[in-house]
Amino acid sequence: MKFELKEHHRNICESDLISDLKEVACKLNKKYVSRNEYEKNGKYSATPYIRTFGTWTNALKIAGLNIERSPKDYKRIPDEMLLDDVREVAESLFKDSISTKEYIEHGNFSVQTILARFPSWNDVLEKAKLNKTSYRVITDEELFEEIERLWRQKGEQPTTTDIKSGLSEYSLNTYSRRFGGWRKALFAFIEYIDKNTETIDNVEKGEFIETDTGQEQILLEVDKKQLKKRTRRDINLRLRFKVLQRDGFKCCACGASPAKDPSVELHVDHIIPWSKGGETVLENLQTLCSKCNLGKSDLFEE
Ligand SMILES: [Zn+2]
Repeated sequence: MKFELKEHHRNICESDLISDLKEVACKLNKKYVSRNEYEKNGKYSATPYIRTFGTWTNALKIAGLNIERSPKDYKRIPDEMLLDDVREVAESLFKDSISTKEYIEHGNFSVQTILARFPSWNDVLEKAKLNKTSYRVITDEELFEEIERLWRQKGEQPTTTDIKSGLSEYSLNTYSRRFGGWRKALFAFIEYIDKNTETIDNVEKGEFIETDTGQEQILLEVDKKQLKKRTRRDINLRLRFKVLQRDGFKCCACGASPAKDPSVELHVDHIIPWSKGGETVLENLQTLCSKCNLGKSDLFEE
């Protein structure tokens, strides 16, 4: 193939654009031509088409071509078509880079399909002529936080369908690569929740006292009243999930559940407000929906 730069036309008339698009379709023997396919085979870049017709789809319409890939085209999707779609999603969002999550929400193909062809998402972005996303390591803790959020939002165990439908901030691939699959990710999450770290997280260390014999002893039984605050105000992920689990992912006051009504938002809150001496422990925490939680804070003015 001869390498040459596309001619730089500022004002190409509509009919020239359309006839060249038709010609490419004819040459490729296709009823649908993607932007990348066109750029590889046509006289111009896709830009004057967008400028003249608003969208690539409009240009296809005017040229009398199909505006969607037929199911036949899906059978063996060429790499170019995948890249094309990534680029189109980025453009539709007015961005020069997109995340896998954004692609899952707006793209035509699955991220798994795309990542099976390319070594990484950054590689996909580069080949689609987009900017790479800044690389950041997502911690296990962040993934667990997200699983807890999904679980709370749904009021029941989140499924791969939820992740694929874009409910999660991270793609299914991220969970799978970290834990070896969605089920394994859930197992790891439950294991993390059940790990007993109460002593580290919530209870202050025992005090050391001098005894008559001069020996150091650890005073384990600290009078709780002597300690101003034994627990932190913020409810950590483990505790929050345990409260939700105990309460069956339902509001303790009105019984509302996101599993029945997706608009219900669950919160975990202190029964005796922390500011009034209430501890951040399982027994002093409850699940409330946002409506009941609002009503409650009027009463207590925490
Ligand atoms: Zn409620």
